[in-house]
Amino acid sequence: MRHGRISPHGVLPQRVATISVHTSPLEQPGGGDAGGMNVYVLETARRLAASGIAVEIFTRATSSDLPWIVEVEPGVTVRHVIAGPFEGLSKSDLPAQLCAFTSAVLRAEAQHEPGWYDLVHSHYWLSGQVGWLARERWGVPLVHTAHTLGKAKNASLAAGDTPEPLARIVGEQQVVAEADRLIANTDDEARQLIDWYGADAEQVVTIPPGVDLGTFSVRDQAAARRRLAVAPDALVLLFVGRLQPLKAPDVLLRAAARLVATDPSLARRLQVIVVGAPSGSGLDNPDAMPELAAELGIAGQVRFEPPASRDKLADFYTATDLTVVPSHNESFGLVALESQACGTPVVAAAVGGLPTAVADGRTGRLVGSHRTEDWAAALACLLHAPAHRAELSVAARANAEQFSWRHTADGLLRAYRDALSDFTTVALTGSGRP
Ligand code: UDP
Repeated sequence: MRHGRISPHGVLPQRVATISVHTSPLEQPGGGDAGGMNVYVLETARRLAASGIAVEIFTRATSSDLPWIVEVEPGVTVRHVIAGPFEGLSKSDLPAQLCAFTSAVLRAEAQHEPGWYDLVHSHYWLSGQVGWLARERWGVPLVHTAHTLGKAKNASLAAGDTPEPLARIVGEQQVVAEADRLIANTDDEARQLIDWYGADAEQVVTIPPGVDLGTFSVRDQAAARRRLAVAPDALVLLFVGRLQPLKAPDVLLRAAARLVATDPSLARRLQVIVVGAPSGSGLDNPDAMPELAAELGIAGQVRFEPPASRDKLADFYTATDLTVVPSHNESFGLVALESQACGTPVVAAAVGGLPTAVADGRTGRLVGSHRTEDWAAALACLLHAPAHRAELSVAARANAEQFSWRHTADGLLRAYRDALSDFTTVALTGSGRP
């Protein structure tokens, strides 16, 4: 049995099977099931490949047009796996396809020489179930990143949102019990894994996600506004992300309507930009947000944009005065980091990973409720204070510079090394559970 290559940092894997069942890193994030996890998987794969590790990402084929294998760049490959019909399945249908997905992954590995993969890294609990079996079959460690946890989501549901089913919670618990290392985005998430899911504290590692500081950098605001046809004197509030109740874009729209109604000095210049497409329970009524803007009487001041490429997003962040992240729950909140990297302060809900991403009073504001009056007050306070916003902007960029995907990948390399080392020791001594 071969496990990895020896490096000055210990034994590292040579080839990692990364599992991302429900969403492909090749998809455009910002709608449907594609969001921060897609960005995370691709960005970390690139950095791991730069460290000499070949990353093969298995994901479900959702179209017959997709090539079976896509080489994204040297060392990063996406492999499309048939598990159920290409179209028409939602994320909640996928537990029934895990057997098909797993068998396709095992078959792909069997075409290589024995010991092809040194480690499995699964993303989200559905993938964890696949990784669990691959671990058993291949005799390699399983590293798992949950990205979101059903129990955390259920603890902070938006009004009218359906709770995550018991099947997910049980599935997550099984993966937690089987994984050799669990990667948490924040210390809070690490505590949830330990306290709520019974994870062994020694197997939980906190590794914050990163931001691409090159793509998301401080640009010329006037030029970005020209490119996006935003008025030079507008006061712009930006929402970026998947449109669903959990992300609470309605909180921003209600706060903006309140400002328009109560603050004549802001009313004329206020512009809200919403970038993203419906997702999850937001798909039940895809027009909910434009309808709400019309109902609130601010349709003329709200601009809806489809999911944007990374480069165009950087323009949106640059053209903006404040990025608003009002989520009910957020395992980290990449949007908050990207905005700060562009020098735009963030007003965010004080939930999940957002207090880690945003320094309250220094790079933006954290709001402790989802009440319209609290959000309107927090936004008005900053919109009326351009000099303060300029100070926040400088600190925001400096804050974002603490985070990078290189940093995240280095954390993963350490976790891989430790998982391999524990696994090999247990396999050699026969103690514990390999
Ligand atoms: N995103 C994007 N284009 C869009 C909207 C979002 O590329 O139009 C990306 C965004 O840049 C971020 C990710 O989607 O990297 C969303 O991640 P976040 O952690 O904020 O939320 P999640 O989707 O994980 O809930």
